[in-house]
Amino acid sequence: MTNKHLKNSVREWIRENNEQLVKLTQGLVRIPSISGDELKIQEFIHKFLKDMKLKPEMIYPDLEILRKDVDYFETTSFSRVGYKNRPNVATTLTGSGDGRSICLTGHVDVVSPEPLEGWTRDPWGGEVEDDLLYGRGSGDMKAGIAAMFIAVQAIQEQDVELMGDVQLETTIEEEDGGVGGNLFLRLVRPKVDAAINPEPTMHNLGVASGGVMYFRVTVKGVPAHAATAHFGVNAIEKMMLVVNALRDLNSKRQRTTSFKIVEESDPRMKGHVTTINIGTISSGDWPSTVPAKAILESRIGWPPGETREEVQKQVEEAVSEVTKSDPWLSENPPIVDWFGWYARPHVLDLESDFIHLMKRNITEVVGVTPKFAGGSAGLDTRFFAHRSIPAVTFGPETQRIHSFDEWVSIESTLKTAETIATTLIDWCGV
Ligand SMILES: [Zn+2]
Repeated sequence: MTNKHLKNSVREWIRENNEQLVKLTQGLVRIPSISGDELKIQEFIHKFLKDMKLKPEMIYPDLEILRKDVDYFETTSFSRVGYKNRPNVATTLTGSGDGRSICLTGHVDVVSPEPLEGWTRDPWGGEVEDDLLYGRGSGDMKAGIAAMFIAVQAIQEQDVELMGDVQLETTIEEEDGGVGGNLFLRLVRPKVDAAINPEPTMHNLGVASGGVMYFRVTVKGVPAHAATAHFGVNAIEKMMLVVNALRDLNSKRQRTTSFKIVEESDPRMKGHVTTINIGTISSGDWPSTVPAKAILESRIGWPPGETREEVQKQVEEAVSEVTKSDPWLSENPPIVDWFGWYARPHVLDLESDFIHLMKRNITEVVGVTPKFAGGSAGLDTRFFAHRSIPAVTFGPETQRIHSFDEWVSIESTLKTAETIATTLIDWCGV
């Protein structure tokens, strides 16, 4: 059979076994797997891969190895629960010759569905209505994981003998930075020639990720009875000066930072490819006391072009400028500390063989030439890219990820599986 025939036959198999893809996605959605609680779903996947006659391994993150890497940071879920019951799952479909290898990788963790009263469907129900499958993680990214497994099953069932190895892996804590997940597997698994991560890209081709860091600002005040508030110093009011300084820095950065790949794929992002988000502020005990301390937590995200150190310096300088302008703050400077997410951005070489191949296969299966996307959020693909491996995100259509009534389109998940399967044939060789 020619490549073209093989590709058609695996695509047909995927279409005929559409029910299996739906069932597998539902099975994954029905296991809650909020970052930190990934064991059950990984056991489910381990068994699924064993039933596929593969030899999956449970791979637990090892802090001693991780800490030596430049991209290591302590994730917030690690601080909360550690890595003890949080395995990654990985296996290899071994090729028959010396073809090019590829890794199919997806994250099993999801964000919390709270507050539940916002949902009109069961977030862990996997309900299907027409083409849509609902649930937390349906789009981000359990349908994508199902698509990559079904693509490999199609290859097996149609007796396609690939020459290159296909690595399959499901990882933990992507929502938290992917350190114990994708980064750890890059440190202990064999190096590959390319990778596909079926995050929900709406059939665009994700070729970049943003830098992401978290920071905290702590401001001190002086407590006093509210009746004699002027004897104290109100930490909330002092924190407002810091908030304004961060807002000014944000506006300035948004005016001067651009990233064409993102702006062209979504014009609404123009002027917003970098953001300082004030995520939490906590302060005060009750109305009758002048608050003595205020703490702000923020995420800064930015596209490729700036280093982590340059961005940190800008934030610290903005806080130190506002400190100088206020007598109390000058005497009691706010403390800035960096915690959690500490990710470098990445962008791939858009002229590489792999990008051209993906573009061609997406166009053939989906019927539309994909746009390039990425660069406004952190992604696991950066860990491949920083090792010079072309790693793309490409996945189904979805709406309301990280929000109420998240859904994924089944038809687009089938197309994702077809695109992955045809790319395995072209890339690994037969
Ligand atoms: Zn995701």
